[in-house]
Amino acid sequence: MPHKTKTHILATIGPSSASREVIERLIDSGADAFRFNFSHGTHEEHKERYEIVRKLAKEKGLHITLIADMQGPKLRVGEFKDGEVMLKEGQKFLLDMDKDPGDEKRVPLPHPEIFKAVKPKDLLLLNDGNIRLRVEKHDDSHIWTKVEVGGPLSSHKGVNLPNITLPISAITEKDKNDLKFALKLGFDWISLSFVQKADDVRYARELIGDKAWIISKLEKPSAIAELDEIIKLSDGIMVARGDLGVECPIQQVPVLQKKIVAACRKLGRPVIIATQMLESMINNPGPTRAEASDVATAVYDGADTVMLSAESAAGKYPVEAVRMMRDIITEVEADPLFYKLMDSQRLHPCCVGESDSITFAASDIAGVLKNVAAIITYTSSGLTTFLTARERPNLPILAITPNIEVARRLGIVWGAKSFVNKQTFASFDKIEETAVKIAVENGFAKSGDHIIITAGFPLGKKGRTNMLHTVYIP
Ligand code: PGA
Ligand code: MN
Repeated sequence: MPHKTKTHILATIGPSSASREVIERLIDSGADAFRFNFSHGTHEEHKERYEIVRKLAKEKGLHITLIADMQGPKLRVGEFKDGEVMLKEGQKFLLDMDKDPGDEKRVPLPHPEIFKAVKPKDLLLLNDGNIRLRVEKHDDSHIWTKVEVGGPLSSHKGVNLPNITLPISAITEKDKNDLKFALKLGFDWISLSFVQKADDVRYARELIGDKAWIISKLEKPSAIAELDEIIKLSDGIMVARGDLGVECPIQQVPVLQKKIVAACRKLGRPVIIATQMLESMINNPGPTRAEASDVATAVYDGADTVMLSAESAAGKYPVEAVRMMRDIITEVEADPLFYKLMDSQRLHPCCVGESDSITFAASDIAGVLKNVAAIITYTSSGLTTFLTARERPNLPILAITPNIEVARRLGIVWGAKSFVNKQTFASFDKIEETAVKIAVENGFAKSGDHIIITAGFPLGKKGRTNMLHTVYIP
């Protein structure tokens, strides 16, 4: 049976969580979705893990959401002769297209696009932002810099260029190959790293079509500049705080988190808060107070999903990390303040379409009618469920869909619990009967309760919600 909390947990699978035994414990502890990080691991490893999750989900009768996370255009320096050098504040350092291994004076940078895009005074951040280089001058194959903040730099460390929009697509050749593999295997969502502009999402959609839904990872300041357009073009969003905290001053990350969550809610798209949520649990069985508070803040903000990265992929305590997230979510959602906050951020969808007005009204009815136990959304595209989740009602949102793909995709949408039902309903009575049956059998409603049904009628026609109905269960 699906659990009763609204905020979902997305756990990254990696070496610490590759076995059937650990994956099963993650699911039992509350993981609703898994991220496969294509920056690491082989296709064989991903396939093996993919099959384990699908099999376990089937055995447990759950729809588990699987996300293939593309590496994207992550920029890296080349090799150093001795593996590592120490850069000192004030020294000059050259990045160039020369393939020879680097030393303390220079290093190869195998990304020709960068040389044309930088300008004097631009900042280059290396090794997770720990090293800062200021550009002095450049030509088509050299960037001469001065070290502002030094430190150790080793081969293949990452390079971030905040405030520069590079003339590169968010989908690299490696990504294209990974994407083909992931779509063939049957991933529910594809997440795109380092989205810089709305056109990146348009291009991804051309490649992906409707084979999967698209998450844009927001980790570049240039993406924030086109925030609303990127959200509208995407099916979901990730606040990728890891790279975002390198690309932007770190004090802006919490502010951007709130801004992005609010924009996603307004536009009816699910949003994931990611990275370092329970970071210290990589090595410890419990989190710091600040980390517990960070997870709680994301839930109070109204995030659809909270994510674990290294905690579940490479840490010592993957199961404990999921359990801790689940406990924090349960605690916050039991706080009366939580629904007050959700309610205070409700938007009046004035001057919008039929679908928004129905899902808005469904939530209102839930607030005035006695003993409403659940909102049932019949959906073939998932739209009705997205819009209902946007209202953040203090009720379970059950999604009944004929499409297993949609059922699986909805696992990161706030409050949504999916059920596949392939009937072609001959009469309205049948719609009512099926909704009641699913709600009661799964412990979401009982005799004496009301349920609210929303649907696009006739059922099966995509992209329209025009029906609202209440049912009393005798
Ligand atoms: P990553 O993305 O872990 O794939 O880098 C998340 C982030 O940057 O926060
Ligand atoms: Mn990232």
